[in-house]
Amino acid sequence: MIPSVAVLPGSFDPPTNGHIDIIRRASSLFEKLYVVIGVNKSKKHLFQPEEICGMLRETLEDKKNVEVSVWDGLIVDFAKKHNAGVILRGVRPLADFSYEFELAETNMKICPEIEVVFLPASSEYFFTRSSSIREMISFGVDISALVPPAVVRAVKMQKNCQLR
Ligand code: ADP
Repeated sequence: MIPSVAVLPGSFDPPTNGHIDIIRRASSLFEKLYVVIGVNKSKKHLFQPEEICGMLRETLEDKKNVEVSVWDGLIVDFAKKHNAGVILRGVRPLADFSYEFELAETNMKICPEIEVVFLPASSEYFFTRSSSIREMISFGVDISALVPPAVVRAVKMQKNCQLR
């Protein structure tokens, strides 16, 4: 059977315009695309997975075949549960390659019937990554050109709460 359902997993902490570009492009390649926010307990979070879920849902409201959810198990188990034949990953040049190949190898070993597919990042987002945006936020740098409006709003709200 030709896969028509794909899963795009990540931490999206916070979602960036690079993520949104990959999701929008991927959404026209599959009938259904699940964007899955993985829960990584060992990572320090800026936003909770549920908050990220809200930001992504708002930003992708117009994409009716995209569903955003939070998942705290193995991604291949999410894929199997939702009959997805593909795990999709966006890749930026150089830095992402060895990590993404290792991850793909692991996922394909656990579940060989699910294929891993890489989609190249658009050149304007080659150097956009959540970790640098988190760093910019911590120094109060304006990030509005790099992330969707829902994220800018959430950062402002978080800052106001800290000031109170
Ligand atoms: P990161 O923390 O590095 O941004 P995530 O785990 O949140 O990574 O990313 C989820 C998916 O989006 C991954 O496949 C990742 O490679 C991809 N991705 C992240 N940033 C970009 C970008 N700027 N352009 C394209 N894909 C990206």
